[in-house]
Amino acid sequence: MDDQAEPIREIRVNPIVPSESVLVATGRGMRPRRAEEPAPRDTRKHVDRCPFCRGHEHMTPPTIAAFPNEADWSIRIVENLYPVLRDEGNGGGLAFGLQQAIEGYGRHEVIIDHPEHGAAFHEMSEQHLGMLLGAYQERIARLYDADPRIQYVLAFKNFGPAAGASIPHTHSQIIAMPVVPENVYNEVTNSREHYRKHRQCIFCTLIDEALTFEATIYDRDSGRIRRRISVGQYVVERGEQFIAIKPFASRFEWELHILPLAHQSDFLMLDDAARADLARVLRRAMARLDAVLGGAQYNFFLHSLPRGSEFADCDASFHWHLEICPRTSIPTGFELGSGLFVSTISPEAAAERLRSISL
Ligand SMILES: [Zn+2]
Ligand SMILES: [Zn+2]
Ligand SMILES: [Zn+2]
Repeated sequence: MDDQAEPIREIRVNPIVPSESVLVATGRGMRPRRAEEPAPRDTRKHVDRCPFCRGHEHMTPPTIAAFPNEADWSIRIVENLYPVLRDEGNGGGLAFGLQQAIEGYGRHEVIIDHPEHGAAFHEMSEQHLGMLLGAYQERIARLYDADPRIQYVLAFKNFGPAAGASIPHTHSQIIAMPVVPENVYNEVTNSREHYRKHRQCIFCTLIDEALTFEATIYDRDSGRIRRRISVGQYVVERGEQFIAIKPFASRFEWELHILPLAHQSDFLMLDDAARADLARVLRRAMARLDAVLGGAQYNFFLHSLPRGSEFADCDASFHWHLEICPRTSIPTGFELGSGLFVSTISPEAAAERLRSISL
């Protein structure tokens, strides 16, 4: 493993969104980034004044949907009390010279993921996680159908104070938006470009490489081994239908992506068997992160093909996925000013640590 210990100092370009890159700098003497000292996440099971705990349903806006049923819910969906977007019916957008604004219409719902206050994903049963994924599907489909102006429905979760969760009770959020968020737009249009050139989905190619790639890269002058890429080096967890990988270039040191192994553009196409397998891969990947980080706090996003005619030709080129971004440090001025994020652990070493956890 000598080659693993070789310091790396290189800028890695995100193959899907080349304008995003990460500086991987693992050399000895490389100052470890200042660890954020976040308030620890709330692990209590029930909290008297928490509006999301079971028995406090009167403290929230009315139930929009509940699973498996409202009287004995395991998952409950309510309107967000402080929506970032909502329908106010105050007319169209505004344009004045260079000041362009789109009316901030949309919907913002809260999914109470579990009746237990502090339950983390890896502490929930796979059956429960499967039901939660089904709840995401149902709400996303309903919100698209309810308003043809909606361009994207984003499902995400902020878990722990370090990830910006303002309510400690475990929850996800779904926002129906009047625009396609830039992150999704860049992925969809860049992968379409790749498909036009190569007739291949770039995400499928990444999965193939993660599963089969093997190479030794030598220094031309000295003949020294610069890097050895081995089979499955970026794979953290593999199920029957899903794979969790540590991207070769990712902005967050412990970032993980979970993708369906077979090409699929839209999360809403997920069926029962696939949901069960995804629940298993998700639970196990989160358990690994939690063990390595000593309590993972993270942001979690779902990226799926947007509706709308502009993306009607992206079915073969876009591949839906989950992104899990653990928050382990505060971005520095260099990172915010340059957009170049720094990783002091190599993605290969991070994947190896995650795989080494026995579950
Ligand atoms: Zn609670
Ligand atoms: Zn694909
Ligand atoms: Zn993505």
